[in-house]
Amino acid sequence: MTESASEPIVAPYVEVALPVPLRKVFTYAVPSGLGGALQPGSRVAVSFSRRKLAGFVVGGRDDLPEGVSRALPVAGLLEPEPVFTPELLRFLDQAAKYYMHPLGEVLRAAAPALPAGAMRRLRADGFLEPAENLPGQRVAHHTTWKVTPTGKETEGIRLGARQKKLMDRLATRESVLLDELRGELNDPRAVVRSLVGRGLVEFEEVEASRDPFFRAPVTRDAPHPPTDAQQLAIDAINEAILGRTGEAFLLHGVTGSGKTEVYLRAIDEVRKAGRGAILLVPEIALTPQLVGRFRARFGDDIAVLHSGLTARQRDDAWQALRRGRVQVAIGARSALFAPVADLGLIVVDEEHDPSFKQDEGFRYHARDMALLRAQYAGAVCVLGSATPSVETYYRANQGRIRLLSLPTRATGATMPDVEIVDLRRHRKGPTGHPLLSGPLHSAIGGCLETGHQAIIFLNRRGFAPSVRCAACGAVAECPACSVALTEHRGQGALRCHYCDFHRAAAMPCASCGSTEQKRIGVGTEQLEKSIEESFPKSRVARLDRDTASGDGVEAVLDRLRSGEVDVLVGTQMVTKGHDIAAVTLVGVALADQSLAFPDFRASERTFQLLAQVAGRAGRADTPGKVILQTYQPDHPAVRLAAQHDYEGFYAEEIQAREEVGYPPFARLVTVRVHAGAEADARGATQLLAETARQHQAVKDGAVQVLGPAPAPLVRLRGRYHYRLMLKSPDRKLLRTVTAHLAARIAQGLPPTHTTLDIDPL
Ligand code: ADP
Ligand code: ZN
Ligand code: ZN
Repeated sequence: MTESASEPIVAPYVEVALPVPLRKVFTYAVPSGLGGALQPGSRVAVSFSRRKLAGFVVGGRDDLPEGVSRALPVAGLLEPEPVFTPELLRFLDQAAKYYMHPLGEVLRAAAPALPAGAMRRLRADGFLEPAENLPGQRVAHHTTWKVTPTGKETEGIRLGARQKKLMDRLATRESVLLDELRGELNDPRAVVRSLVGRGLVEFEEVEASRDPFFRAPVTRDAPHPPTDAQQLAIDAINEAILGRTGEAFLLHGVTGSGKTEVYLRAIDEVRKAGRGAILLVPEIALTPQLVGRFRARFGDDIAVLHSGLTARQRDDAWQALRRGRVQVAIGARSALFAPVADLGLIVVDEEHDPSFKQDEGFRYHARDMALLRAQYAGAVCVLGSATPSVETYYRANQGRIRLLSLPTRATGATMPDVEIVDLRRHRKGPTGHPLLSGPLHSAIGGCLETGHQAIIFLNRRGFAPSVRCAACGAVAECPACSVALTEHRGQGALRCHYCDFHRAAAMPCASCGSTEQKRIGVGTEQLEKSIEESFPKSRVARLDRDTASGDGVEAVLDRLRSGEVDVLVGTQMVTKGHDIAAVTLVGVALADQSLAFPDFRASERTFQLLAQVAGRAGRADTPGKVILQTYQPDHPAVRLAAQHDYEGFYAEEIQAREEVGYPPFARLVTVRVHAGAEADARGATQLLAETARQHQAVKDGAVQVLGPAPAPLVRLRGRYHYRLMLKSPDRKLLRTVTAHLAARIAQGLPPTHTTLDIDPL
């Protein structure tokens, strides 16, 4: 069950999964040169209808499939080692079946990108020409020294100032990279050599990591003694790990209750048992602090998988994980596919977060698939959240996963006091700005006076969400999408948030030629400016997609942490997991935005966002305060988030879901159709709806067909989008009808593009 090494294939043929929209595998012959070199999970090049494609070997076979008289040979082996372990292959095969998605496409989505130029480096014998043999391919790698203490006692040894400085540095850590000492220590290499001569340290040459997550040195931490609630959770999880029970847990703990500490202990237990762990987080770029805590506990032998890795760094990480040299992988959604050897634990932090759902191509949900992979690997799965998804909490209530609760904050801090400001009554505050009500304005003032920090959340970036012509009333829209353009004043542009379209802000109206414009609504850029103007002495910063590309996020959060910023204004990027002691005020500029979405989960999302952002306040000694501005103070999501009442919210929501028969009381499948012409998209969706309605299960009413209907954004990137939804409490019947439709889609519905989305969000 837990074998981690693949076996070479000795059969004359192999089955290869290819990234084509066909639900089958293809048989190829193993050429004599590649005999014994192919394994399940190997990435190979093959010819497929006159093209060269990269696919994955899924197994060997002794003869050709019935009706097939000959097979083309495998053209070459694209990577020396198999990309997938047997454990991963088995799991991905199940995932492909669950999502009714072609295995070849699933494997391609789960694999790291093919190394650049690999196809061109294939030699006639089927092997790769090593990159370094190609002219101009040699890459100079930046190296440094990794210095480790030998453990020899320094007592009684006279050390020079520089030697002492280095030894002090090593007192709290396992090793230090010479690169980190640059600027602190003159000629560090000489210092290391002298210490080697005295038998105090050893060193080895290693590749210097330019990975931002490992740049800053960390100090090893001393774990807090767990609270009673933490101890109960730790014991339960550790018992499951040691007993290899493959159990799944929901760790429901309020914001600041110490869930991360529970993850750290569980991962420690897994490591001690010689097994590996995966930690999934919603957005790795937003979690440098979390990674820091893992490095502080486990040292730098963890793999942080993120999109900024070079091909070489990612390759190294995969190798290290596969061999068990590194036992912990941390990353967003796709880290679910990390080839961790002998997987013992998967943790999904903030399991409610919608970013765990991949929303194009292979549309998987990383949380659901974490449960599946863990089950297949005999690993324990821990889902953690302060605001669990309704589906997960329901599963826990049903006893299908075990509920562990951390009801209070670990530091003893109280939950922040939440004041609801009814914008219908409070209107504009002293500044006249619509979203700076009197109470919010004075709370910010008070917070600044006491030297604390504030976070103000507004889920709209840009200056004004839309711009209207003052003369004729026409709204400036994206020519390719059915949405209004957002004004970005700093860039002097109107931008579409769905495609790349942008144009100069100061352009005459397309309908009447007037240049008079009226701004509608408020975005983060405008709010930042208003706060700067209202509090001229404060230092205000902004965190949203515009200000935070790449390293920007970390830089902004660092400035907040070090006290260089008094007020941080931002989109939902400010709601995620940050733990900053001096933040005592959280303002929600407009709580209602996410309620407006035409989605049965709108209420749940709003509750989650509000509870999460409120949780950023008062995490240390000074009690926190939250100001929540809204036009709907009586909405349950708003009211119950203000009371930190998750159970209350869940009780209301689960009842509403049951009444209308939405998940978890039914399952959904969305068929998405898009085309360049609206009539084509509508026509094809209509045809699929009729096909579905002919099915007996639909006639019987066991499966409901909703639609066809235009998608909420009917025009997106120049294409028209339509949908059909299937809904049923009976999973089996729903799959039968879905398969029926899939067969119709496989026959082709040109000129449309059609995809299935199982468990859509
Ligand atoms: P969560 O992940 O639930 O939001 P964290 O793990 O970030 O919570 O913990 C919140 C704060 O409480 C952190 O500053 C952490 O260091 C601290 N903390 C965690 N466990 C304990 C404990 N047992 N005793 C004291 N402080 C703790
Ligand atoms: Zn006009
Ligand atoms: Zn657009």
